[in-house]
Amino acid sequence: MNIRLSHLPSVATLVSFLALSAAPIYGQDQAKPKPEDTEVWQPVPKVVTPGVTDSAPPSDAIVLFDGKNEDEWVSAQDHTPARWVVHDNILTVSKEHGIGNIETTRKFKDYQLHIEWRIPENITGSGQARGNSGVFLASTGPGDDGYELQVLDSYNNSTYVNGMAGSLYKQSIPLANPMRKPGEWNVYDVVWTAPAFNDDGSLKTPAYATVFLNGVLVDNHFELKGQTLYIGKPFYKAYDRAPIKLQAHGDKSEPLSFRNIWVRELD
Ligand code: MG
Repeated sequence: MNIRLSHLPSVATLVSFLALSAAPIYGQDQAKPKPEDTEVWQPVPKVVTPGVTDSAPPSDAIVLFDGKNEDEWVSAQDHTPARWVVHDNILTVSKEHGIGNIETTRKFKDYQLHIEWRIPENITGSGQARGNSGVFLASTGPGDDGYELQVLDSYNNSTYVNGMAGSLYKQSIPLANPMRKPGEWNVYDVVWTAPAFNDDGSLKTPAYATVFLNGVLVDNHFELKGQTLYIGKPFYKAYDRAPIKLQAHGDKSEPLSFRNIWVRELD
């Protein structure tokens, strides 16, 4: 029989196989997971100056906020009427104790979303504590956050890049940074493809998000690994239809505002 030496596994291959086999044993000794474990700081997305974006809702849109009232919104905690602040045709986050996140009364599957947001001109703080909010593209319950598209002042404000504006929090790194400065309005246009689940609750197809920030593509059909988690690796949990939720973040910086929110259902 003609066996050539080169067809046999090398010592190096065997050593690396044994090392891989042993990996889970070392894994058991790992320290308790920390938020920092899932922060990514490099490479920093390039800064792009956005053009002008048009924002009026198209004829088939469901208008979620037109400047007048919060009729389409409730408290995410107890589903009582939303108590953020409507003034001057905008909706401002209330950081008052006990108010918290708000979510839509309607539930959605796949959709196109338009939402405008403004970091106050007098914003203070740094990193994640500077104008932090979020658009949860599917709010899967008060205990589960859902899927967060980060809202943050990312104009000259350094943080981990998978947690800056335009990121699907701790999952995607935005393709660019077209953020406008505090006091000016930023615009998100989102295409959300909800995850689908089998009858036994297992994942059938993952969620995808395409996001434009100020008309610049920042997430291109990005496949999510599961729900947003602050600590640890994301995973999926079955749900059907879900509201869209806005975050009243606990940081101490001045509250930001939203306006002109509309959605087009795609399913
Ligand atoms: Mg946030």
